[in-house]
Amino acid sequence: MNILVLNCGSSSLKFQLISTSLDQIAQDTERTLAKGHIERIGGAAVMSFSGSGDEVYRSAGPIRDIRAALDAALQWIASDSVKIEGVNDHSDIHAVGHRVVHGGEKFSESVLITDEVLRGIDDCIELAPLHNPANIQGIQAARAIFGRSMPQAAVFDTAFHHKLPERAYIYAIPYQFYRRHKIRRYGFHGTSHRYIAYRYRTKNNIPRENVNIITIHLGNGCSIAAIKNGDPIDTSMGFTPLEGLVMGSRSGDIDPAIIEFICQKEGLSVEQVDSILNKQSGLLGISGLTNDMRELLAESDESGDRRARLAIDIFCYRVRKYIGAYLAALNGADSVVFSGGIGENSARIRSLICSDMDWLGVELDEERNTATIDGREGTISRDGSRFNVSVIPTNEELMIARDTVRLIAAAGQG
Ligand code: AMP
Repeated sequence: MNILVLNCGSSSLKFQLISTSLDQIAQDTERTLAKGHIERIGGAAVMSFSGSGDEVYRSAGPIRDIRAALDAALQWIASDSVKIEGVNDHSDIHAVGHRVVHGGEKFSESVLITDEVLRGIDDCIELAPLHNPANIQGIQAARAIFGRSMPQAAVFDTAFHHKLPERAYIYAIPYQFYRRHKIRRYGFHGTSHRYIAYRYRTKNNIPRENVNIITIHLGNGCSIAAIKNGDPIDTSMGFTPLEGLVMGSRSGDIDPAIIEFICQKEGLSVEQVDSILNKQSGLLGISGLTNDMRELLAESDESGDRRARLAIDIFCYRVRKYIGAYLAALNGADSVVFSGGIGENSARIRSLICSDMDWLGVELDEERNTATIDGREGTISRDGSRFNVSVIPTNEELMIARDTVRLIAAAGQG
C-alpha cells in the first residue's frame, strides 16, 4: 500500500509517501517514495519536494490554505517530472495517516478517522489551539480530495505517554483543576519516543518489556522520556510542549511566578508573556541571536560570543539534569538514546551533555561520536563504558504509515 503521511501545521504541510504493508512491516523493508514540505501557507509559500533520489525540487508561489497545499503536493507527486514508481495519479495512494498533536485523555492510541473521531479531535482544540485546528483542516482536505471512502488514520503525539503513572502526570495544584479542566501532563513527541524505543529493541533484539532506556529528542522542540519495561513512566513536556528542556525558542521549565512578575514589570498581558515564553525564549532568548543550534555553535566558534556559549551551556546542563532525574525515576537504565535534528547531528552537543557524568560511568568514544551523524545509527559510548549511549535517527512518519496499515488491516478494509 502507498500511504500518504501528513503533518499539517498552522502555516505548513509536511508529507511523505511511504510504500508499506503488513509483510513489509514484518521485514522492515518499507520505502519512502517521495517527501516534501510547504511552508508559509496563507501567503507566498515555499515548496520543496524530493523523490527517492537526491534531487530536490523547489518552487514558490501563493498557496491559500492547507487544501491548496495538499493539491500542490499531490500534483507534484503525480507529475512527469518525478516519476515515482507505481504512482501515476491519486488512485495509487491507498490511505492517509495524519500526525495529530493532541488526543487529550480520549485517544490512547492511533485510530481510523470517523465523524466521531473528528469531533473528538475538535474537542481537544482547547488543549492545542494552534495545532489541532490545522490537523483537522488536513483531514478535511484529504476527505475532499480523495473522498470519504479513503481510509484515514490519526496518530496522536500524546498517545504514547497515555500510560504515564498518576504521580508523573498530576501537577501539585488543586486537584479540582485536573477534574474540571483536565490540567495534567500529557507529554508530546510521543510518536518519536515510541519509534526510538521500538528501534532500540529491534536493533538489540530484546523483548519490549525489557526496554529500560532514556530517549532524548533534541530538535527545534526538545523532550526527554524515561521508558521502563517498554512504556514511558515520565516525560518532560507537560500540559503543553512548553515545559521541560530548553528548546529553540521555548523556555522549558521556569518558576511560574515569573509570569506575573514580567506582566507587572513590563506592562504585558499574560498572553504576551506566554508568547514570549514560546517564541522568544530558549536558545533564541538567551543568545539574542538565533533559535538554530547549528548557527549558535558557529557563532560561538567564530566570534566566541558569550551569550551564544551561555545558551549552549544552559541547554546541555538542562538535559544532563533531566538524565539524572530520570535515572533516579527508573532506578537505573540500560542506555541513553539521542535523536532529533540536534541529537542526530551534533556530536559536540552530545559530548557536552555527556561530560562530567563519570559518576554514571559514561565514557563516549569520540571517534564513534563524530562519525555518527547525518542519519547514521549506532553506539557512541566506548566498548568498556559502564553505560551505553547511542544515537537513533527518529522516524515518526514510518510509525504513522505503519499504524495506518495495521488499523486498516484490523478493520478488514485492506
Ligand atoms: P529538527 O526540529 O529535528 O529538524 O531539528 C532542528 C534543529 O537541529 C535546529 O536547531 C538545527 O540547527 C539543529 N541541527 C541540525 N543539524 C545540526 C548540526 N549538524 N549541528 C548542530 N545542530 C544541528
